[in-house]
Amino acid sequence: MPSARFRFAPSPNGRLHLGHAYSALLNEQMARQAGGALLLRIEDTDQTRCKPEFTHACIADLHWLGIAFAPNPRIQSEHFEDYDAALRKLWELDAIYPCFCSRKQVAGHARSGHDPDGQPHYGGTCAGLSREVAESKMAAAEQHGWRLRTAGTDAASWGDVMIAKRHVGSCYHIAVVVDDALQGITHVVRGQDLQAATPIHLLLQDLLGLPHPAYHHHALVQDGAGRKLAKSAGDTSLAELRAEGFTPARIRAQLGF
Ligand code: GLU
Repeated sequence: MPSARFRFAPSPNGRLHLGHAYSALLNEQMARQAGGALLLRIEDTDQTRCKPEFTHACIADLHWLGIAFAPNPRIQSEHFEDYDAALRKLWELDAIYPCFCSRKQVAGHARSGHDPDGQPHYGGTCAGLSREVAESKMAAAEQHGWRLRTAGTDAASWGDVMIAKRHVGSCYHIAVVVDDALQGITHVVRGQDLQAATPIHLLLQDLLGLPHPAYHHHALVQDGAGRKLAKSAGDTSLAELRAEGFTPARIRAQLGF
Protein backbone atom coordinates (compact mmCIF):
# COMPACT_ATOMS: atom_id res chain seq x y z
CA MET A 1 0.00 0.00 0.00
CA PRO A 2 1.74 3.22 -1.12
CA SER A 3 1.73 6.02 1.43
CA ALA A 4 -0.80 8.78 0.79
CA ARG A 5 0.23 11.66 -1.43
CA PHE A 6 -1.86 14.80 -1.77
CA ARG A 7 -1.30 17.85 -3.95
CA PHE A 8 -2.33 21.46 -4.34
CA ALA A 9 -2.22 22.56 -7.97
CA PRO A 10 -2.98 26.24 -8.52
CA SER A 11 -2.94 27.97 -11.92
CA PRO A 12 -0.90 31.17 -11.69
CA ASN A 13 -3.26 33.40 -13.68
CA GLY A 14 -3.83 35.80 -10.80
CA ARG A 15 -3.21 36.14 -7.07
CA LEU A 16 -4.36 33.41 -4.70
CA HIS A 17 -7.53 34.15 -2.73
CA LEU A 18 -9.29 32.64 0.27
CA GLY A 19 -10.74 29.84 -1.85
CA HIS A 20 -7.26 28.67 -2.76
CA ALA A 21 -6.16 28.97 0.84
CA TYR A 22 -9.07 26.73 1.89
CA SER A 23 -8.17 24.09 -0.69
CA ALA A 24 -4.48 24.15 0.22
CA LEU A 25 -5.22 23.98 3.97
CA LEU A 26 -7.69 21.11 3.49
CA ASN A 27 -5.05 19.18 1.56
CA GLU A 28 -2.53 19.94 4.30
CA GLN A 29 -4.93 18.69 6.97
CA MET A 30 -5.89 15.52 5.10
CA ALA A 31 -2.26 14.74 4.29
CA ARG A 32 -1.32 15.17 7.94
CA GLN A 33 -4.20 12.98 9.13
CA ALA A 34 -3.19 10.29 6.65
CA GLY A 35 0.48 10.57 7.61
CA GLY A 36 1.13 11.35 3.96
CA ALA A 37 2.96 13.91 1.84
CA LEU A 38 1.73 17.21 0.40
CA LEU A 39 3.08 18.25 -2.99
CA LEU A 40 2.83 21.53 -4.86
CA ARG A 41 2.28 21.77 -8.59
CA ILE A 42 2.10 24.96 -10.62
CA GLU A 43 -0.36 24.48 -13.50
CA ASP A 44 0.91 27.08 -15.93
CA THR A 45 0.55 25.42 -19.32
CA ASP A 46 -1.80 28.14 -20.59
CA GLN A 47 0.76 30.71 -21.69
CA THR A 48 -1.97 33.18 -22.63
CA ARG A 49 -3.18 33.46 -19.03
CA CYS A 50 -0.38 32.37 -16.70
CA LYS A 51 2.50 34.68 -15.78
CA PRO A 52 5.79 33.92 -14.02
CA GLU A 53 5.20 36.79 -11.58
CA PHE A 54 2.00 35.08 -10.45
CA THR A 55 3.92 31.83 -9.95
CA HIS A 56 6.40 33.59 -7.65
CA ALA A 57 3.59 35.40 -5.83
CA CYS A 58 1.66 32.15 -5.42
CA ILE A 59 4.61 30.32 -3.87
CA ALA A 60 5.30 33.32 -1.60
CA ASP A 61 1.65 33.46 -0.46
CA LEU A 62 1.63 29.74 0.37
CA HIS A 63 4.90 30.12 2.24
CA TRP A 64 3.45 33.04 4.19
CA LEU A 65 0.40 30.92 5.10
CA GLY A 66 2.87 28.44 6.56
CA ILE A 67 1.96 25.44 4.45
CA ALA A 68 4.82 22.96 4.27
CA PHE A 69 5.06 21.32 0.87
CA ALA A 70 7.53 18.65 -0.16
CA PRO A 71 10.53 20.30 -1.85
CA ASN A 72 10.75 20.93 -5.61
CA PRO A 73 7.31 21.92 -6.84
CA ARG A 74 6.53 20.67 -10.32
CA ILE A 75 6.22 23.55 -12.76
CA GLN A 76 4.18 22.29 -15.71
CA SER A 77 5.58 24.74 -18.27
CA GLU A 78 8.97 23.01 -17.83
CA HIS A 79 7.54 19.64 -18.87
CA PHE A 80 5.66 20.08 -22.15
CA GLU A 81 7.49 17.07 -23.59
CA ASP A 82 5.70 14.81 -21.08
CA TYR A 83 2.29 16.09 -22.20
CA ASP A 84 3.25 15.80 -25.88
CA ALA A 85 4.27 12.17 -25.31
CA ALA A 86 0.86 11.43 -23.79
CA LEU A 87 -0.88 13.16 -26.69
CA ARG A 88 1.14 11.09 -29.17
CA LYS A 89 0.13 7.91 -27.38
CA LEU A 90 -3.54 8.90 -27.44
CA TRP A 91 -3.28 9.78 -31.15
CA GLU A 92 -1.76 6.36 -31.85
CA LEU A 93 -4.74 4.83 -30.07
CA ASP A 94 -7.07 7.05 -32.15
CA ALA A 95 -8.61 8.15 -28.85
CA ILE A 96 -8.04 11.79 -29.82
CA TYR A 97 -7.98 13.64 -33.12
CA PRO A 98 -6.61 16.99 -34.24
CA CYS A 99 -9.25 19.68 -34.75
CA PHE A 100 -8.51 22.47 -37.20
CA CYS A 101 -11.79 24.36 -36.79
CA SER A 102 -11.75 28.04 -35.93
CA ARG A 103 -13.92 29.25 -33.08
CA LYS A 104 -16.40 30.51 -35.66
CA GLN A 105 -16.54 27.15 -37.45
CA VAL A 106 -17.07 25.40 -34.11
CA ALA A 107 -19.95 27.75 -33.26
CA GLY A 108 -21.46 27.32 -36.75
CA HIS A 109 -21.54 23.52 -36.63
CA ALA A 110 -22.37 22.89 -32.99
CA ARG A 111 -24.50 19.90 -32.00
CA SER A 112 -27.64 20.40 -29.94
CA GLY A 113 -26.22 19.15 -26.60
CA HIS A 114 -24.34 21.30 -24.09
CA ASP A 115 -21.40 20.34 -21.91
CA PRO A 116 -21.35 20.79 -18.11
CA ASP A 117 -19.80 24.26 -18.65
CA GLY A 118 -22.76 25.26 -20.83
CA GLN A 119 -20.80 25.16 -24.10
CA PRO A 120 -22.43 23.48 -27.11
CA HIS A 121 -21.06 20.06 -28.05
CA TYR A 122 -18.54 20.05 -30.89
CA GLY A 123 -20.25 19.24 -34.18
CA GLY A 124 -17.66 16.68 -35.21
CA THR A 125 -16.33 18.26 -38.43
CA CYS A 126 -12.77 16.98 -37.83
CA ALA A 127 -13.78 13.71 -36.12
CA GLY A 128 -14.01 11.82 -39.40
CA LEU A 129 -10.87 13.11 -41.15
CA SER A 130 -8.68 10.25 -42.33
CA ARG A 131 -5.38 9.92 -40.49
CA GLU A 132 -3.62 10.69 -43.73
CA VAL A 133 -5.45 13.98 -44.20
CA ALA A 134 -5.08 14.87 -40.53
CA GLU A 135 -1.33 14.15 -40.61
CA SER A 136 -0.79 16.19 -43.74
CA LYS A 137 -2.74 19.14 -42.32
CA MET A 138 -0.60 18.99 -39.18
CA ALA A 139 2.58 18.76 -41.28
CA ALA A 140 1.44 21.87 -43.13
CA ALA A 141 1.65 23.61 -39.73
CA GLU A 142 -2.04 24.31 -39.51
CA GLN A 143 -2.89 25.31 -35.97
CA HIS A 144 -4.90 22.65 -34.23
CA GLY A 145 -6.22 21.48 -30.92
CA TRP A 146 -6.73 17.89 -29.78
CA ARG A 147 -10.22 16.54 -29.10
CA LEU A 148 -11.02 13.44 -27.07
CA ARG A 149 -13.53 10.95 -28.46
CA THR A 150 -16.06 10.56 -25.66
CA ALA A 151 -19.08 8.87 -27.29
CA GLY A 152 -20.16 5.86 -25.24
CA THR A 153 -17.97 6.77 -22.25
CA ASP A 154 -18.75 8.32 -18.85
CA ALA A 155 -17.37 11.59 -20.24
CA ALA A 156 -19.93 11.75 -23.07
CA SER A 157 -21.70 14.73 -21.49
CA TRP A 158 -18.70 16.79 -22.65
CA GLY A 159 -19.00 15.89 -26.32
CA ASP A 160 -15.59 15.62 -27.99
CA VAL A 161 -13.92 17.93 -25.50
CA MET A 162 -10.78 19.88 -26.39
CA ILE A 163 -7.96 18.54 -24.23
CA ALA A 164 -4.98 20.48 -25.58
CA LYS A 165 -4.14 23.47 -27.71
CA ARG A 166 -0.40 23.13 -27.84
CA HIS A 167 0.20 26.25 -29.98
CA VAL A 168 -0.86 28.29 -26.93
CA GLY A 169 0.43 25.72 -24.44
CA SER A 170 -2.87 24.97 -22.77
CA CYS A 171 -3.40 21.29 -22.03
CA TYR A 172 -5.00 21.22 -18.58
CA HIS A 173 -6.83 17.89 -18.84
CA ILE A 174 -3.84 16.01 -20.17
CA ALA A 175 -1.29 17.69 -17.89
CA VAL A 176 -3.31 17.11 -14.73
CA VAL A 177 -3.64 13.40 -15.47
CA VAL A 178 -0.01 12.89 -16.51
CA ASP A 179 1.29 14.78 -13.48
CA ASP A 180 -0.98 13.17 -10.91
CA ALA A 181 0.51 9.86 -12.06
CA LEU A 182 4.11 11.12 -12.30
CA GLN A 183 3.91 12.64 -8.83
CA GLY A 184 2.37 9.46 -7.43
CA ILE A 185 -0.73 11.30 -6.21
CA THR A 186 -3.11 8.98 -4.36
CA HIS A 187 -5.70 11.60 -3.28
CA VAL A 188 -6.99 14.49 -5.39
CA VAL A 189 -8.73 17.03 -3.15
CA ARG A 190 -10.04 20.02 -5.10
CA GLY A 191 -13.05 22.30 -5.51
CA GLN A 192 -16.48 21.22 -6.69
CA ASP A 193 -15.99 23.38 -9.78
CA LEU A 194 -13.79 20.58 -11.13
CA GLN A 195 -16.10 17.67 -10.23
CA ALA A 196 -17.74 17.58 -13.66
CA ALA A 197 -14.31 17.27 -15.31
CA THR A 198 -13.40 14.14 -13.36
CA PRO A 199 -14.92 11.66 -15.88
CA ILE A 200 -12.58 13.18 -18.50
CA HIS A 201 -9.63 12.54 -16.19
CA LEU A 202 -10.73 8.96 -15.42
CA LEU A 203 -11.11 8.23 -19.14
CA LEU A 204 -7.65 9.64 -19.90
CA GLN A 205 -6.16 7.57 -17.08
CA ASP A 206 -7.74 4.42 -18.50
CA LEU A 207 -6.50 5.17 -22.02
CA LEU A 208 -2.96 5.93 -20.81
CA GLY A 209 -2.85 3.00 -18.39
CA LEU A 210 -2.50 5.24 -15.34
CA PRO A 211 -3.93 4.56 -11.86
CA HIS A 212 -7.05 6.31 -10.57
CA PRO A 213 -6.39 8.44 -7.48
CA ALA A 214 -9.24 8.84 -4.98
CA TYR A 215 -11.19 12.06 -5.64
CA HIS A 216 -12.77 14.41 -3.11
CA HIS A 217 -14.41 17.62 -4.30
CA HIS A 218 -14.92 20.20 -1.56
CA ALA A 219 -17.50 22.99 -1.42
CA LEU A 220 -16.26 26.35 -2.70
CA VAL A 221 -15.63 29.24 -0.34
CA GLN A 222 -18.16 31.97 -1.07
CA ASP A 223 -18.00 35.70 -0.55
CA GLY A 224 -20.43 37.55 1.71
CA ALA A 225 -22.95 37.74 -1.15
CA GLY A 226 -22.88 33.96 -1.72
CA ARG A 227 -20.83 34.19 -4.90
CA LYS A 228 -17.95 31.88 -5.70
CA LEU A 229 -14.61 33.63 -5.15
CA ALA A 230 -12.56 34.39 -8.22
CA LYS A 231 -9.03 35.64 -8.53
CA SER A 232 -10.50 38.89 -9.84
CA ALA A 233 -12.05 39.32 -6.38
CA GLY A 234 -9.01 41.30 -5.24
CA ASP A 235 -10.56 42.05 -1.87
CA THR A 236 -10.10 38.46 -0.77
CA SER A 237 -6.65 37.92 -2.23
CA LEU A 238 -4.20 36.73 0.40
CA ALA A 239 -1.89 39.61 -0.53
CA GLU A 240 -4.65 42.14 0.16
CA LEU A 241 -5.65 40.49 3.43
CA ARG A 242 -2.03 40.40 4.51
CA ALA A 243 -1.69 44.14 3.69
CA GLU A 244 -4.78 44.75 5.85
CA GLY A 245 -3.03 43.10 8.77
CA PHE A 246 -4.52 39.60 8.68
CA THR A 247 -2.17 36.98 10.11
CA PRO A 248 -1.84 33.41 8.77
CA ALA A 249 -3.33 32.21 12.09
CA ARG A 250 -6.40 34.39 11.61
CA ILE A 251 -6.91 33.17 8.05
CA ARG A 252 -6.58 29.55 9.15
CA ALA A 253 -9.09 30.14 11.95
CA GLN A 254 -11.51 31.96 9.66
CA LEU A 255 -11.45 29.03 7.23
CA GLY A 256 -12.00 26.51 10.01
CA PHE A 257 -8.50 25.10 10.43
N1 GLU B 1 -5.10 24.15 -11.72
C1 GLU B 1 -6.49 23.96 -11.44
C2 GLU B 1 -7.08 25.25 -10.90
O1 GLU B 1 -6.35 26.09 -10.39
C3 GLU B 1 -6.72 22.88 -10.41
C4 GLU B 1 -6.50 21.55 -10.97
C5 GLU B 1 -6.81 20.40 -10.03
O2 GLU B 1 -6.80 20.56 -8.81
O3 GLU B 1 -7.03 19.31 -10.54
O4 GLU B 1 -8.27 25.44 -11.00
